[in-house]
Amino acid sequence: MRVLITGGAGFIGSHLADSLLSRHEIAVLDDLSTGSRENIEPLLKHPSFTFHHNSIFNRDLLASLIADCDIVFHLAAAVGVKRIIEAPVETIQTNVAGTELVLRLATEHARRLVLASTSEVYGKSTQLPFREDGDLVLGATDHSRWSYACSKAIDEFLALACHRQYRLPVTIVRLFNTVGPRQSSRYGMVLPTFVRQALLGEPITVYGSGEQSRCFTHVRDIVEGLTAIAQRDTTIGEIYNLGSTSEISMNQLARTVLSATASSSMIVHIPYEQAYAPGFEDMQRRMPDISKAGAAFNFHPRHSLQQILADVISYQRAQLEQHSRTVAF
Ligand code: UDP
Repeated sequence: MRVLITGGAGFIGSHLADSLLSRHEIAVLDDLSTGSRENIEPLLKHPSFTFHHNSIFNRDLLASLIADCDIVFHLAAAVGVKRIIEAPVETIQTNVAGTELVLRLATEHARRLVLASTSEVYGKSTQLPFREDGDLVLGATDHSRWSYACSKAIDEFLALACHRQYRLPVTIVRLFNTVGPRQSSRYGMVLPTFVRQALLGEPITVYGSGEQSRCFTHVRDIVEGLTAIAQRDTTIGEIYNLGSTSEISMNQLARTVLSATASSSMIVHIPYEQAYAPGFEDMQRRMPDISKAGAAFNFHPRHSLQQILADVISYQRAQLEQHSRTVAF
C-alpha cells in the first residue's frame, strides 16, 4: 500500500512511518515547523520512503501526493498548548484551512483518510470518562487555548460532512496525551519537560495546584491503534478516542519523575497566568472512555507509566549527551 503521512516528521508521524515502512511505501509531507529531520533521518535512505519538505498549503504537491497514495494519515497540526497561545493565527489556519484542503482533495480522489483530532475538543466537560458521543464544553473566544479545540471540532464536522455527503472514507481519532521518545520539551508538554528538568537538576515546574490529572499513552500504543483503524473499513465514518485510562496528577507525576531519574531537583508550583497567559483555563481531568476502540479494533494500551518513563528518560538523556558533545566540539 502507498501511505501518505502529513506531519510525518513530527513526534507521532515519525513513529507511524517507522512502523509502516517494512510493509508499505511511505511518503511524508512536513514543513518541519515543529517536526524535525532528525526524527526521520534513519528512514531517508530506505527505497520505499520519500520525504517532501513542504507545506500542506502547497496545493499542487498535496494533490499529486494524495492522488498517488491509497491512504492518508493527516497528522499535520499545531502542537502544544504553549505554541497555540503564542501563535493563535497559525494554529487556526493550519487546523482549519490546511485540513479543509486535505479533506477536499481526499474527497476528490476518494482516498481513505485517518484524521487526527484531539482530546482537547472535550474542553471543560466534566462528563468523565469522555465518550465520543459526549458534549464538548469550550470556554470563551477571548481565551486562545479554546481556538485549538474549536478548530479541531470544525475539522471533525467537515470530515463527517464529507463522509455523509460525498462518501469520503474517513475515520477521526481523538488523541489523548501521547508521550514517548522524540517528543520535544520545546513545546512545553509536561512529561518531556519534567524529565529534562529532572536530568538537568533544574526545578520541576508544576503549573497551578498540580492536582489536575492526565492519562499518558505511549506513542507505540497510539501507532498500533492508528494502524488497526486503517486496516478496517468498519471504522469508516466513526470517531474513536485513543489513549490510556491510567490517571495521574501532575504533583504525582513530578514525584514519579524525580524518583525514576534519581534527581535531586526540587518541585516548584507556578501560577497558570505566569506559565501561559492571564486568565488561562486548564482542564482538571482528562480521561478517555476507550470501550468503542476496544470493541472495534481491540485497542488496549499495553505500556505502563514506568515503561513510558524509561523510554522518555533514555531518549532525553541521549539528547542531552548529544547536545553537550556538540557544545564541547
Ligand atoms: N504542566 C505542568 N508543567 C509544565 C507543563 C505542563 O504542570 O511544565 C501541566 C499543564 O498545566 C497541564 C498538564 O501539565 O495541566 C498537561 O500539560 P500538557 O501541555 O502536556 O498537555 P495538555 O493536557 O494540557 O494538552
